[in-house]
Amino acid sequence: MFYWLSTYSRASLSLAGIAIAGLAVWLAVTSTGNIAIDQLQQTAQARLALYESTLRAAVDRYRYLPYVVSRNHDIADIVSGNGNADITNRYLEKVNERSGAAALYVMDHTGTTVAASNWNTPDNYLGKNYGFRPYFKESLAGQDGFFYGIGVTTGRSGLFISHPISKDGEIIGVVAVKLELDELEQNWQGGGETVFVSDADSVIILTSRSDWKYRTIRPLTVTERDRILRNRQYSGQELLPLHMDEKPSGDDDIVKIGNEQFLFDVKPISGSDWNLFYLTPMDYVAERRTSALLITIIGSGLILLTVLFLRERELKLASQRKSLEFARIQALNARLEQEIGERRKTEAELRGTQDELVQAGKLAALGQMSAAIAHEINQPIAAIRTFCASAKLLLERGKPEKLGPNISQISALTERMGAITGQLKTFSRKSTGVLEPVNIKSALDNVIQFLSSQLHNEGCVLEQKEFDGKLIVHADLVRIEQVFLNIIRNALDAMDGDLEKRIVVELSNARDQATIRISDTGPGIDKASLGLLFDPFFTTKDPGQGVGLGLSVTYGIVRDFGGTIRAYNRADGGACFEIQLPLMRGDQTS
Ligand code: ADP
Repeated sequence: MFYWLSTYSRASLSLAGIAIAGLAVWLAVTSTGNIAIDQLQQTAQARLALYESTLRAAVDRYRYLPYVVSRNHDIADIVSGNGNADITNRYLEKVNERSGAAALYVMDHTGTTVAASNWNTPDNYLGKNYGFRPYFKESLAGQDGFFYGIGVTTGRSGLFISHPISKDGEIIGVVAVKLELDELEQNWQGGGETVFVSDADSVIILTSRSDWKYRTIRPLTVTERDRILRNRQYSGQELLPLHMDEKPSGDDDIVKIGNEQFLFDVKPISGSDWNLFYLTPMDYVAERRTSALLITIIGSGLILLTVLFLRERELKLASQRKSLEFARIQALNARLEQEIGERRKTEAELRGTQDELVQAGKLAALGQMSAAIAHEINQPIAAIRTFCASAKLLLERGKPEKLGPNISQISALTERMGAITGQLKTFSRKSTGVLEPVNIKSALDNVIQFLSSQLHNEGCVLEQKEFDGKLIVHADLVRIEQVFLNIIRNALDAMDGDLEKRIVVELSNARDQATIRISDTGPGIDKASLGLLFDPFFTTKDPGQGVGLGLSVTYGIVRDFGGTIRAYNRADGGACFEIQLPLMRGDQTS
């Protein structure tokens, strides 16, 4: 998957992967934290509604009790001073017992208790004056009273609900019921949740955390503190603040109380000036965050491991592919080397064969020319013999002074013979294989000289076209001579029996090429043979006349020196062989 990537790109990819994984972890933690907070807030709302309804249920059961009691004539009588205290007390005791309230009592218009359900207990309310209590004042003013505080007689906290007692349209007293919400509070404490109720002054009056009871959500003002003292609402309590308004994270929903942090939710309790608080410890949010972190880290780790595994596998496969490719290339190289070796060997063998063929061709040519050579040499030998006989006669006649011209003639004849044998020697010598500058003109002259007697005997005219330049090629003289020799001899063969025999040799140069054209007046080459001329053993000659190697050897030699050879028929009849050879640099003409 990644094997085509450069090391640089792979490093960037890994970094990007780590960055993405980090981002994923961060996102997961933050979003899980937020989701956890959202969920907890929803739960808190639901819990608040539940707590409120249980509190409301606990209070509402008693809400109408003072009203109902206030309607009783005996109550009005006792407040007016006409009733029977004992009967009223027992009545209140019974009603109180039935309702399950803490106390039920009646006060006259001064606030002094005139009848009470707890008449027969040591800390009964009878004769006690509660005129200072706000609920008394409210009811005396004709309203229902609702007040939470610590009982000044019992020292026990509770909720006081009161109702005015009227007679003839006049308020003559107040009935009050005291509820102790201890059981509810104990249930809250047993529930393991953090919930509490604060009154209008922010004093915590009901709480699942007993150490927070009578603590304040915010510091009390002096006025508030004075009023509370006056009402003797929370006698004996210091009312120290909890400092709940601290927002450690700047988040309005999070508060710090002591060393603990909470997510908090608050709900005003309708029909009262109380507030219900529900607090969720942040440890829980942190726990959720930690588990999200762990899950994300494990998840990311697994993904990373999978990616690394896949990458590793891909690299392994890539390296396997590479080594296979390498092995394939190596095998290919080995095969190529072997083929090159074989080709070189074959080439060397071919060259050897070619050299041998050249040599064989020369010797064959020598054989064929031996008659002509014998004739060429016989003539001077006969002449020398004649000159020797005449020299002998001159000596016998005592005229040695006349020997001079004879000796000169003999010497000239031997020189001619030397020239012929010299040519033969040159022709028959083996190629050295060493390349050297070869003058095309000289090579041609050598061949023409060598063939001169044969040309003469066969009545062939060899015409050399005028050319002033000097064509020097990088070649082997002997083999170049062989080329010319083969072509001229073929031309002679082709013109065999013709009345007029003519061979034209033409030299030229163009750019860095030397061009040699050798044409004849023979019958030319038929179409079918044109494409086969340079093939080995292609011959149209009778058996014993030709073996079909001359032109293929010629072709090989020309190609070896970087040249080309082609044959074509001239427009006015006869064949033409055109050879092109690369000129040596700086030696094109001179
Ligand atoms: P060989 O001379 O032994 O036949 P070569 O390879 O020298 O072998 O020549 C092959 C053939 O090319 C000859 O047999 C002949 O048919 C043809 N050929 C060569 N030169 C000429 C020419 N100048 N005119 C016509 N035919 C030619």
